[in-house]
Amino acid sequence: MLTKLSQLGEFGLIDLLKKYKGGGASVIKGIGDDTAVVPLDAKRYLLLTTDMLMEGVHFKRSAPPRSIGHKALACSISDIAAMGGLPRYALVSLGVPGNLSWAFVRDLYQGMDTLARKFGIAIVGGDTIKSARLVINVALTGEVNKTDVVYRNGARPGDRIFVTGALGKSLSTGRHLKFTPRVKESQYLVRHVKPTSMIDISDGLTADLGHILEESKAGAVLEEKRIPRRAGAGLRQALYDGEDFELLFTVPARKAALLRKNKFYPIGEIVARGRGLSLQDKTGKLTKIRPRGYTHF
Ligand SMILES: [Mg+2]
Repeated sequence: MLTKLSQLGEFGLIDLLKKYKGGGASVIKGIGDDTAVVPLDAKRYLLLTTDMLMEGVHFKRSAPPRSIGHKALACSISDIAAMGGLPRYALVSLGVPGNLSWAFVRDLYQGMDTLARKFGIAIVGGDTIKSARLVINVALTGEVNKTDVVYRNGARPGDRIFVTGALGKSLSTGRHLKFTPRVKESQYLVRHVKPTSMIDISDGLTADLGHILEESKAGAVLEEKRIPRRAGAGLRQALYDGEDFELLFTVPARKAALLRKNKFYPIGEIVARGRGLSLQDKTGKLTKIRPRGYTHF
């Protein structure tokens, strides 16, 4: 009990907390995916997600407040997209320092409002408290057809691995403050190919692929030359930088050809679990790599 949170790490902490499940209400999927999944009606599931952003960790106070608002909502929309769903209702809670101006808070909400309108999301409530640092929490619901929902656990050896866009340097280029969540792409995917697994890249390519591999009990080979990089980003940054918010997903090989023509990027293949995660260079040589990326503690 003397263990410090910094020793546990973010995922160690989640492991300790996930035994506290409450009870009574019916749950389709609890902790362990991009959102929780609960019953809605005969045809659909309700998706539930929440994301907390703090100044100094996820944004700087010097960033444009509109962008901070945009990001706060966009992160949660990205998680709904990663399940194959559409976002619906948001609750927004703020911890605000006393010295923050009214204009700052107004602009922050305008950033959120603009994105919410674009995606047909209603902001229906929230809470505000005074706090030493600016903290924003967005809880978001979504809806998904039962036949469309995509989890992290369905990747099988032979499946091709894809991403929806270039990776790396999202934080240093400021892209993390203005990205468009991949809802349109996700809808295309569930309609046309039905991915076997999907996640949004928040912790980094290898870290988030690691979540898919763990849940799917599989390994993977990534092809170095195929990984799309943002301008100026090296291989390491594409592999390990966080906050890209592209979708990472797997599809059976026979469906892969359709996607290549539609601006989805094939980056590797799912293999048996025993082979772990490795990177293949231009000459075909395989190097084992460890899934790691941005950690919050
Ligand atoms: Mg996610």
